Amino acid sequence: MSEARIIDGRRIARRIRGDVAHRAGVLKSDGHVPRLDAILVGNFPAGQLYARSQQRRCEEVGIDYNLHALSDETDDQRLQAHIEQLNTDPAVTGIMLNLPLPDRLDAPAAQYLIDPYKDIEGVNPANIGLLFYDTPILAPCTALAVLAVLRHQRIALRGARVAVIGQGNIVGKPIALALMTRQATVLTCNKFTDNLADITRTADVLISAAGVAGLVQPDHVKPGATVIDVGINRPSDDRVQPVVGDVCFESVRHVAGAITPVPGGVGPVTVALLLSNTVESAAKQLEKRRFHR
Ligand code: NAD
Repeated sequence: MSEARIIDGRRIARRIRGDVAHRAGVLKSDGHVPRLDAILVGNFPAGQLYARSQQRRCEEVGIDYNLHALSDETDDQRLQAHIEQLNTDPAVTGIMLNLPLPDRLDAPAAQYLIDPYKDIEGVNPANIGLLFYDTPILAPCTALAVLAVLRHQRIALRGARVAVIGQGNIVGKPIALALMTRQATVLTCNKFTDNLADITRTADVLISAAGVAGLVQPDHVKPGATVIDVGINRPSDDRVQPVVGDVCFESVRHVAGAITPVPGGVGPVTVALLLSNTVESAAKQLEKRRFHR
């Protein structure tokens, strides 16, 4: 039985981080320190663990990191005032709102308030809108990660037939739009798509961003196709269990030509591109200040 090439996302991420460290060094030597300010609301261990690893990753590449741990009692008004203050502070170059927020808070309203020049996740409507014209100030990290993986695989997107499962605002839609801009033939699918396998099996590249463990089976995949698994699914609330993707990796690897694993595929590339966007945000703000001088 043939075996797909396993795409090593950690290796791609290492290369991106090397480039980020270089760019951060150049900015610093010019007196401009890239700095990520992350907001965490509430006192929950998983959030703090994530913040610590975020800090370590930033420091490794020469990005300053500042955590704003807001109390459990923070309301929308207080959270939004905090974001406004970070927006106007010239020392802050990138802002990230760590999710999930407590249910009572309006997460989209808070994210939409982040200055598009500091929006390192690329989720502000201004950045999403500019993606339409292929000119975002900062692009959504997961779409960038999928493009980076495809570039690494040397896949020519112009004219390629690509199926994207999932049309979420943060992942599926920006990916489909970015692929359309690159002249791919894009087949977009959602949970109401009839005969999903009949569609996806015609694609040379299959990208799954549905958030459904085991959704993609061997009969969804054209033999030799490249399969990119964006899904991150936790089998249970038990954090000891490893995450799984949307693709049934063990069986699909015998049909696909190349495949990303979960963990170790798109995830680390997305994290590296978040750092890349942080450096990019610092560079863009510098450019803007010089232009308005
Ligand atoms: P979402 O809930 O916003 O969107 C899910 C989409 O999948 C919807 O369009 C829905 O119609 C579609 N879908 C659901 N079930 C389906 C089915 N059975 N068949 C076909 N389509 C189906 O989710 P999201 O925020 O876009 O996230 C999607 C996945 O990507 C999640 O697993 C999330 O954890 C993961 N994610 C990964 C990264 C990464 O770096 N790898 C980053 C962000 C999100």
